[in-house]
Amino acid sequence: MVAWLVPKPEGLYCAPGDFYIDPLVPVPRAVITHGHADHARPHHEAVLATPETLAIMALRMGEDRAGRARQSLGYDTPLRLGDVTLRLAPAGHVLGSAQVVLEHAGQRAVVSGDYKRVPDPTCAPFEPVPCDLFVTEATFALPVFRHPDPRREIGRLLHDVRLFPDRTHLVGCYALGKAQRLVALLRQAGYDAPVWLHGALRPICALYGRFGIDLGVLGAATGAARDAMRGGIVLAPPSAIADRWARRLPDPVVCLASGWMQVRQRAKARGVELPLVISDHADWDALLQTCDDTGAREVWVTHGREDALIHALGRRGVRARALRLVGYGEEDEAGDAAAAEGEPA
Ligand SMILES: [Zn+2]
Ligand SMILES: [Zn+2]
Repeated sequence: MVAWLVPKPEGLYCAPGDFYIDPLVPVPRAVITHGHADHARPHHEAVLATPETLAIMALRMGEDRAGRARQSLGYDTPLRLGDVTLRLAPAGHVLGSAQVVLEHAGQRAVVSGDYKRVPDPTCAPFEPVPCDLFVTEATFALPVFRHPDPRREIGRLLHDVRLFPDRTHLVGCYALGKAQRLVALLRQAGYDAPVWLHGALRPICALYGRFGIDLGVLGAATGAARDAMRGGIVLAPPSAIADRWARRLPDPVVCLASGWMQVRQRAKARGVELPLVISDHADWDALLQTCDDTGAREVWVTHGREDALIHALGRRGVRARALRLVGYGEEDEAGDAAAAEGEPA
């Protein structure tokens, strides 16, 4: 039993190091796993994170809200904090995403944040770290969730683009992570035309560029001539695809890229013509595989569908429990909506 990591209403608290991981409210000392708005919240005193995550936080919330004292720590660099040794290991979720590896009193705990195991050209791959306690997300923790190969989904999109050369493919995607991954996957598939971006996606794409992720030629959808985008691919936050904003596009095919697109009703409810099942989270098999890979005898589960995972782990002899921390959601649609407000209609 790891007794020195404590779930509190404010978030997961590391007692011997006196800090919180991805706290839900402002705290004196926070370690942040990645830049999505449900994990990286404003107004902490001190913030420790990867350089990429710190840059993303400063960009999204403004320097003055992104933590008074900011300390950047690259992957795999051990750091002593109080009575704990901490290091950050890649989580494969978005640029800069990290698992927090903690060692104290001969025990090792790993807090994964959000993660996926499928290769992503825009971030370092997930690294399984052997540990006593593994804290896992459970966004897609039901046996029905099995994500297809993202290259197949990109192939479906490109096939549709060729099929309807007079229409514009409008793809809804989260501003941080998904948008950049989509562009990178399109480039890997040989698509070298400009990819058009809604204004809310541009700053983060530019930030990825500064960290060496080449996304090829990107165009600004806002202000572009209508006909320039005909036959092309436009990326926009999910909140914008059914919006007034989309009406500027010539005969759009509405697409949405999300792990949730496996659920037909969700696609239908959002008016999505071409759902693309591309997820930045581990699916059911990957969650179980990852818990196995860590060798952890104890697993704590956050983010939603805990019960099925806890049951499956229990059958494997792993002690599993739900953390029931309230406030972690499906990525950051709220953040995207807020960002989209800055975009002229
Ligand atoms: Zn999350
Ligand atoms: Zn996330």
